[in-house]
Amino acid sequence: MYLREILNSKGHTVHTIDSSATLEDVVQKLVRHNCGSLVVVDPKSSSGRMVGIITERDILRACASHKAALSALKVSDTMTANVVIGGPDDAVEDTMGLMTDKRIRHLPVMEEGQLLGLISLGDIVKMQHDQLTMENHYLKNYLHS
Ligand code: AMP
Repeated sequence: MYLREILNSKGHTVHTIDSSATLEDVVQKLVRHNCGSLVVVDPKSSSGRMVGIITERDILRACASHKAALSALKVSDTMTANVVIGGPDDAVEDTMGLMTDKRIRHLPVMEEGQLLGLISLGDIVKMQHDQLTMENHYLKNYLHS
């Protein structure tokens, strides 16, 4: 199974935030979209160039640091700029290895410089669970026929 199949099933929506926004904006957007990460885009780029990623983990760290109120902290100072990405033709097994290795739960998928979608560890677990359930169903039917 490949990442393209997961994206075709879950959709290609990627929630984004400007690098000039605040962490309070991030919290509001994460809650509104019920998701765990936002791809950070350059507000000066018309094509929405990806410049980083910010996740719930980063918000938690910012809260623990007690540096300032979330409304006073900028996304650009908190995000991870060195984004690990995947490609649509990457195998799910390899991607699980990569995400486990890098300790990340969110992976933007890019093709020819364009953001194609975002895959979370949860999406991968769901896809594998669905596949195992289907295989189990067919095996049981085969054994009882
Ligand atoms: P997560 O487990 O995805 O919530 O992220 C844990 C940490 O890794 C946070 O500091 C994120 O900013 C960072 N992170 C998450 N996804 C990526 C990614 N695809 N590339 C680089 N860093 C990431």
